[in-house]
Formats: sequence, C-alpha cells, structure tokens
Amino acid sequence: MYRTHTCGELRVNQVNETVTLAGWVQTVRKFGAITFVDLRDRYGITQLLFGETLNAALDANPLGREFVLQITGKVQERSSKNANISTGDIEINVTAFTVLNKSAVPPFTIQDDTDGGDDLRMKYRFLDLRRNAVKKNLELRYSVNRSARNYLHENNFMDIETPFLIKSTPEGARDFVVPSRMNPGQFYALPQSPQTFKQLLMVSGYDRYYQIVKCFRDEDLRADRQPEFTQIDCEMAFVEQEDILNMFEGLVKRIFKDVKNIDYLEKVERMSWEDAMWNFGNDKPDIRFGMKLANLKSVFLKGGNIEATGELINGVGFGVFDNAETVLAIAVAGCSEYTRKQTDELTDWVKRPQIGMQGLVYIKCNTDGTYKSSVDKFYTEDKLKAIADSAGAKAGDLVLILAGREERTRKATSELRLEMGKRLGMRKDDEFKLLWVMDFPLFEYAEDDNRWVARHHPFTSPKPDHIEVMINNNPVIENAEKYLEHPYSNIKANAYDMVLNGNEIGGGSIRIFQRALQEKMFAALGMSEEEALHKFGFLLGAFEYGAPPHGGIAFGFDRLCSILGGSESIRDFIAFPKNNSGRDVMIDAPSEIDAKQFDELQIKLNLK
Ligand code: ASP
Repeated sequence: MYRTHTCGELRVNQVNETVTLAGWVQTVRKFGAITFVDLRDRYGITQLLFGETLNAALDANPLGREFVLQITGKVQERSSKNANISTGDIEINVTAFTVLNKSAVPPFTIQDDTDGGDDLRMKYRFLDLRRNAVKKNLELRYSVNRSARNYLHENNFMDIETPFLIKSTPEGARDFVVPSRMNPGQFYALPQSPQTFKQLLMVSGYDRYYQIVKCFRDEDLRADRQPEFTQIDCEMAFVEQEDILNMFEGLVKRIFKDVKNIDYLEKVERMSWEDAMWNFGNDKPDIRFGMKLANLKSVFLKGGNIEATGELINGVGFGVFDNAETVLAIAVAGCSEYTRKQTDELTDWVKRPQIGMQGLVYIKCNTDGTYKSSVDKFYTEDKLKAIADSAGAKAGDLVLILAGREERTRKATSELRLEMGKRLGMRKDDEFKLLWVMDFPLFEYAEDDNRWVARHHPFTSPKPDHIEVMINNNPVIENAEKYLEHPYSNIKANAYDMVLNGNEIGGGSIRIFQRALQEKMFAALGMSEEEALHKFGFLLGAFEYGAPPHGGIAFGFDRLCSILGGSESIRDFIAFPKNNSGRDVMIDAPSEIDAKQFDELQIKLNLK
C-alpha cells in the first residue's frame, strides 16, 4: 500500500499513529542534523521531520523539489503550529522513506505566487496543475458540473451524447473540418454546438435532453475565447419561453447555492433587448449598478428639450454635438470634483484605439449649484444645466458625454460606463446579478453580403405575431443604406440570453418546428432551396414526422466557472487550454502531419 492517509488529512487526534504518506516534495529545509520537508498531494501539505538517525540516508539520497516521496512515521504534535494549513498542528516524525521517483528541477515554483510566466506555465501545464490556485479552479469547475447534473437529473433531463464528426454547415462561425480517409475528398466538421441533434432528439421524443459537451468554432480568437469550449447544452419539448426561463433560472440558482452557498438570487430581472441597448449600450448589461446611458441627441435637435431651456441648444457652433449622429451621456455620481488631470486621463482613455472616440466632453455639476465644463465656450451655464438635467445628473455628479456615429458612440459609452463602474467599486466580484435579455431581433444585417443573417441561429422562431411579416416580405434588401427600413429589421425572435454581471452566460430560443416555416427562414437567409436541402435536408425531413414544439438553451460552462471563481480568464478553468493563437504549446498542436497521412487522405497541400 502506497499510503495510509493523504497529505491533507492528519490532525492532533491522530498523534502517535504510525502512518504512511506519499506525495511531492514542496520544500526541504535543513537545520543542522534535522531536516523539515513539506510533502504535498492533491489534498494538502504535511510537514515531515527527518531526525538525526536519517541524516546519513538523506545525505546519500538528497531530496529535491518535486521528488515523489513515500514516508512512514509517527504523527506528533508540532511545537510551532501553522494555522494556515489544515494539518498545521501536527508533523510526521519520519522513520523510513523511499524516493519513488526523482524530478528534474521544475521550471517554476509550484506555489500560489509562482515565478513562472504565462507561456512557461502553459508549456508545463502538468506542473502548473499541481499549484493550489489552479487546482481550486478545477475543483470549482467540477462542483459546477456536479450541481448542474444533479439539478437536470432531478428534473428528468437525460444526458445523451451526440456525434463529434458531423456535416459542415457553416453559418456564423467557421467549422473545423476533418478529412475522411474512407471517403476521399469528403470532410466531416466538428460541431459548433449539438444544435440540430438536440432538436432531432425532441422529434424522437426525448423531451428533456442535456449534455455537458465540447463545441468547436474556428473563430479568430478574441481575448479569452477558446477554439474548443464547453457548453451545458439543453433542450425541452412541449414548452413555451416562460417554461424555459423558469427551468433554467432554477438551474443557475441551484449552481449558485451549491457552489457559492448564495441564495439571494430570488428574482432574475428581465429586460428587452431594445431597453438593454438604449439604457446600457449593449445586449449584456451589468446591472450591479445604474449609471444608465442618456440619449442627448434630442436635446440638441430642433425642438429638443425646449421646456427645460426655453430655447434650442443646437446651432451654438459646437459642431461635435450639432452634427453628430448620436450624443450619449452618463452621469457619474459624486465625481464633480474630478481634477483636470483626471478628466484628461479619461479623455485619453476614450481615445484609445479599442474605444476609438475623438474626445470626451464633461460637465461638472458642482455641489454649490454651478456648472463647469470642457465646452464652457459654447454653452451658457443654463444650457449646461439643461444638458446635465437631461443626462439625469444631480449636484455632485460628473456628466461624461460622447458624440459621433451611432454604433461606435453607443459602444464607447457602454465601455466608459463599465470602466467608471469598475473604478468606483460598483462591480464587486462577490456580488452577482442575473438578468434575462429578451426579444432579440431575429435578423442581423450583414453588410459584406448585403443580406440578412440569423442573429441567434437559423432555427430560432420569430415572435408569433411577426411570422406574417417574415413570410409576406421579400428578404432582398434593395437599398443597403436603408436596410433599417426593411420590415425584417423589426422582426423580433423568441430568443433569450442569460446575463450575469455583464457577461452572457447562456442563450437559447424557442425553435421553429414546422417544415414550411423553417424553409421560409432558410430562404430569408438567402439560401436557395437546393442549398437548404443539401445542408439541412435531414432536419426538414424530420419536421415532417411529428416534430413537437420545442426550445432550449446552452450555457457557456467555462465562462460560468470563471465568473463564479472571480477570474477574468476562462483559461484558468480549463485543464489544458489553448493560447491566443489557438495553440496547445504543451503538446505543440496544431502541427504538421506525415506525408503518408496526406497520401492516405489523398490530400495535397497548397500553402499560400
Ligand atoms: N446552440 C446554441 C448556441 O450554441 C444555443 C441554443 O440555442 O440552445 O448558441
């Protein structure tokens, strides 16, 4: 037997017991004739004491960091206790030891505060995984996994595996493809999600399905994306949107209870996509704090805000506002005393390429009732007050205003709001707010191809009273400039996203389940009948054999774990992640393959 106990197990009530432990040498401290060793395993650290009698044996077999060591000895109470570790009251007086395996000097220290940089730790991920900090993350991941499975099992969901080698039907992200040796010239694709399979399972009558499953998307990797990631993927039959929202609010609340012991998430707020976009500037608002966006354009338009000012504010010669497509503001509470240095720094912040604005206008709403701004030249104090009022500012607030093209300004103001929220401590790691964002547009305009693409995916149903609009209008966009006037731009979907602290953690929809409507949908997306049949004939066919109404959702498992673990990076919660270029630097993948493999596949490279 290699061990009688783990390194995290022994306490004072086991004093005098003879035990055998096995683990890795964390540290060796020699004090004259005695040596202390910290022995580590998955469960903790136990201090070992090698007394004088073992001195010669130790000298003959010196221990190094990360050696695999087995010892036998007696548990004794420590004279100087260590309250930081669970075994800190005891140590083992070693009577015999065996080095089970030596270790090369590790390239970084296996400690919470390691000296290893990211790249090195990824290259030696198997060592990084020994570190407590990483282990805690994997433990958290496992407890989220267990909690989800328990909840879904208790609610009659069945875990059913779906294939990884499927048909390539790119819509949205790019597929990873796999050549088929047995079918030369043909390729499988790795699933971007099990979407069509889970829908087919509904047709098959498995009315509650789930899977904690890998998905693959060959996207350009923005920060913190992985080419392979995990979803908690779910589907239900005979449900309406409300049923899904309730069931999966339940899932997330259960995870919070099981993993964080948090049960204050009583009510999950709901917000329409329109409101999210207008009030927060994005479709996944962080609602831990207010600071909503105010649309000031009306203030500067003819007729805008006349009551407040008694006169028009526009046309004062400040072109940035007069000519802007959009003017948006946030009122930052209690910051009217920002110094010039601070407002300059904020201006630089919005000018950074990631934000991309030309400048920032501020109005300080001083507590003595006066107003001071970076555009004093153009606006009287009355007008500044009118603008600040429209932004919802109170005395003591700092109004920050951005102007420019609609989309960019909205995005930038949203980013600025988040940044100010962070700086002012309003985005606390240990506070969680859940939100459903609903009523998404069904379509999105794809400028490059001048056509509509599905905002969620092509299987999402339109709101029942928007179906007619979809069926009765030609999808062709005559005038690209005016795509917003096309009736399709107003069609809303039966789709919903769950948002946690400003992150989309899940999304899904009620699906189309009639062949005719699904065909219309493919046509709306610019697919010819042949193309639709070629790509999705199996689904259209299945819809003819008694497809029940159904809908579902998928949660981003890695992201959910990282938020619960208070980390920005999903990589920290994946045992063997890839880097920003999609490489696994440990196993060195992707890599070239043998000429023989190409031969077998009958594939010739044509590198450009
Ligand atoms: N399959 C979808 C996705 O990956 C989620 C869903 O609609 O259930 O986004």
